[in-house]
Amino acid sequence: MSMYSYKTEPLTDFTSDANVKKYEDGIRTVYTYLGESYDLVIDGKRVKTDKTLNSINPSNHQEIVGTISQASIKEADLAMKAALEAFETWKKVDPKLRADVLFKSAAILRKRKFEFSALMTKEAGKPWPEADADVAEAIDFLEYYGRQMLDMLKIDDKILSRRNLERNEYKYIPLGVGVVIPPWNFPLAILVGMTSAAVVSGNTVILKPASTTQVIGYKFIEVLEEAGLPNGVVNFLPGKGSEIGEYLVKHPKTRFISFTGSKDVGVGIYEKAAKLQEGQIWLKRVIAEMGGKDAIVVDSDANLDLAAESIVKSAFGFSGQKCSACSRAIIVDDVYDQVLDKVVRLTRQIKVGNPEKQEHFMGPVNDHLAFKKITSYFEIGQKEGRLLIGAEANDEKGYFIQPTIFADLKPDSRLMQEEIFGPVLAICKAKDFEDALKIANNTEYGLTGAVISNNRMHLEQARQEFHVGNLYLNRKCTGAIVGYQPFGGFNLSGTDSKAGGPDYLSLHMQGKTISETL
Ligand code: GLU
Repeated sequence: MSMYSYKTEPLTDFTSDANVKKYEDGIRTVYTYLGESYDLVIDGKRVKTDKTLNSINPSNHQEIVGTISQASIKEADLAMKAALEAFETWKKVDPKLRADVLFKSAAILRKRKFEFSALMTKEAGKPWPEADADVAEAIDFLEYYGRQMLDMLKIDDKILSRRNLERNEYKYIPLGVGVVIPPWNFPLAILVGMTSAAVVSGNTVILKPASTTQVIGYKFIEVLEEAGLPNGVVNFLPGKGSEIGEYLVKHPKTRFISFTGSKDVGVGIYEKAAKLQEGQIWLKRVIAEMGGKDAIVVDSDANLDLAAESIVKSAFGFSGQKCSACSRAIIVDDVYDQVLDKVVRLTRQIKVGNPEKQEHFMGPVNDHLAFKKITSYFEIGQKEGRLLIGAEANDEKGYFIQPTIFADLKPDSRLMQEEIFGPVLAICKAKDFEDALKIANNTEYGLTGAVISNNRMHLEQARQEFHVGNLYLNRKCTGAIVGYQPFGGFNLSGTDSKAGGPDYLSLHMQGKTISETL
């Protein structure tokens, strides 16, 4: 099959009036279905339940984005049955056809880009450029994994050796039914990436969307249907993690679990999945992408403007609600005060408010729980360090928190150790570069990290010693691009399953060797 090569989806230029208008049209489209009801989708059929959940706009908690039926164990069983049955046919479907479903889905998303972006602004509180990047990343995942599947068909060619009168084959076959549990912070991109990787590899899926972004999940199911995905291959099962999530993780017929979310939930899934259940005849595979306490290290020989800009963008983009976000800045003593000054100056320019307005760089945080957790760190920060800016919040209408920075923190302080997942930056002074790297590595995580330095020897040292899955030199630590910067972390950041990387699909498959004597 001849195929044009993979290229990342371009981001929208919002300095163009035409694009501003397209975004506003997207918001108008979302208003046409605001507050509608949504069902589960099992084996292609809409299933209503008694229990429903209101998905609300985090910028305005009085506004209901949609009301979604919630699954109980009964529907989880139905979904498992549908996924098991569909697996028997889907696993045999030509991988090229499976890839075509992804390419077609990418095309549909491209056509409806501004609507999906606007929906993320409404349901997830994503400011324009962040929402736009989220849709672009979703398209990238579809284009990239589709091609990766086509590449994997060539795997047989890689086994070159054989003895006389022998034919050797090595191929990847799918695993079975996967439970896919994506996060709310990239409600389209990561949901699409995790689901499409599982499906294009020949598996079937029970998709449990994050509770605050279920409408976006449902809208993607419609895209898959339009793209020609057969019934039962992806079953949409919104519901409580503690109820159906746990039930499905433990289910003896679940073959793998693909999870992105918090460390605590991820560790719990890993543990539950490890226990053999009655009637289970395999070891479940767990693909987990969890938290981070990511640091940007600033060296004395560095472009300090670049340092400040990288810190502020990585710390406060999407209100710090990224596992890749810079939640620690570790600055070498001799430039400490200068960098602090620049960081505060840039932070002061940030406008916080309803992200439907283009000028707002930061929108709300996810929900009341996030609001409570993040603001609880204000007091801790005041005790442990020095407040430079922020520590103000207001949840009267939406869950808005001002960008907040604490300085002079000790490496072992709670602010330097605990994932807050919000717009709170902890800053720590290091004696020298050596000391800075030591502080940077001093957490239980290992997801992203960046070094801003013009010292070649220090950059080389960071390459070797900074223990993170995604290391960035002289740039921000967020915004990995599919196919360019495979994404995933070390230690308690997850199983280092690199999303958007060359071996991600193989995590959803098993290798089969066939040797025939001729
Ligand atoms: N891949 C995203 C980035 O590089 C972060 C994903 C996440 O927060 O889960 O910024």
